[in-house]
Amino acid sequence: MPAAIKKGDTVQVLTGKEKGKKGRVLSVHPSENKVTVEKINVVKKHMKPSRQHQQGGIVERENPLHISNVMLVCPKCQARTRSGVLATEDAGKRLRVCKKCKEVID
Ligand SMILES: [Zn+2]
Repeated sequence: MPAAIKKGDTVQVLTGKEKGKKGRVLSVHPSENKVTVEKINVVKKHMKPSRQHQQGGIVERENPLHISNVMLVCPKCQARTRSGVLATEDAGKRLRVCKKCKEVID
């Protein structure tokens, strides 16, 4: 498994046409190893008029990215990090720790 990425994390895109952009994780899809990132990989969808969208028209939404195409950004030092996972003595609880500044990300 790649390093865990959670909802609310900031990630940077590593590949593709949006390489280098940063965004906030809106949702995580563990079964597909994908994450949806705010304002990244936005696609326009044409909607037919329906009860919710009476005018129809174009709706923008984010397409999920594969988790291997993004990297967690440390909220403390802004370094991109493959977050290390350390077990603390405290009941074996696993925490994500930035390898650069040693800050606990969780
Ligand atoms: Zn850091």
